[in-house]
Amino acid sequence: MDEIRTTVIVLAAGQGKRMQSSVHKQYLLIKDKPILYYSLKAFEESVIDDIVLVVGEGEEDFCQKEILGKYGFCKVRAVVSGGKERYHSVANGIRSIGWECDYIFIHDGARPFVDGGILERVYSAVRQCRACVVGMPVKDTIKIADQKGYVESTPDRSRLWQVQTPQVFERQLIAEAYEKLLTEERNLLAAGITITDDAMVVEHFMHVPVKLVQGSYENIKITTPEDLRTAEIFARDIRHFTRGSVPEK
Ligand code: C5P
Repeated sequence: MDEIRTTVIVLAAGQGKRMQSSVHKQYLLIKDKPILYYSLKAFEESVIDDIVLVVGEGEEDFCQKEILGKYGFCKVRAVVSGGKERYHSVANGIRSIGWECDYIFIHDGARPFVDGGILERVYSAVRQCRACVVGMPVKDTIKIADQKGYVESTPDRSRLWQVQTPQVFERQLIAEAYEKLLTEERNLLAAGITITDDAMVVEHFMHVPVKLVQGSYENIKITTPEDLRTAEIFARDIRHFTRGSVPEK
């Protein structure tokens, strides 16, 4: 049997408006290194074969020099510019893959603490299930609010997961799902449907069941300023440098 090939699309084209910083959040520092460094490092040391990095328009050269060159990431095969919404950035990433690839991992560059254990679990699961997302059971009770800010309902907590990335799919499946999304984008917007993750695209257009795989409560997305303080603590004992390298001091 031919060797299985994997590509990860790392998304770093967001504006990070909720961070209230003049620097785009993927370039803010945790323990003296840009947020984006940590997930690229995790993939560089994992089973992943190739990386596509999606950055803001005009940031390609900066990233090549200040991130890829500076830290010596050599699995990055393409640096492409993103789009207005996250799903436009993902679509650009998928379209840029001009090489052999069986599974596509999609990861938020703003999630620095993806680790080797998560990658091994989700990679093993996707070979069985075709479509997988990493997540964790929620700890808080979740309420659905009505338009006026009153509680409309309380879903059963034992069935609720907070979804993270990576989200991982068979290449053909996710490529077809995204092409359908771009064709149907206007209709979705008109129906008030907002696409916030990749699994939603598969759920909506491909009707393939999506398997939930255990992530980690440390696999946070850096979104608001207090997340950076949490990240500084998590970064103190990073555990994903398992393949031939030692934790950074
Ligand atoms: O905005 P949000 O925090 O949900 O973004 C999740 C990830 O998607 C971030 O890593 C961000 O850089 C990326 N993104 C992107 N293109 C956009 C919006 C977000 O690559 N247009």
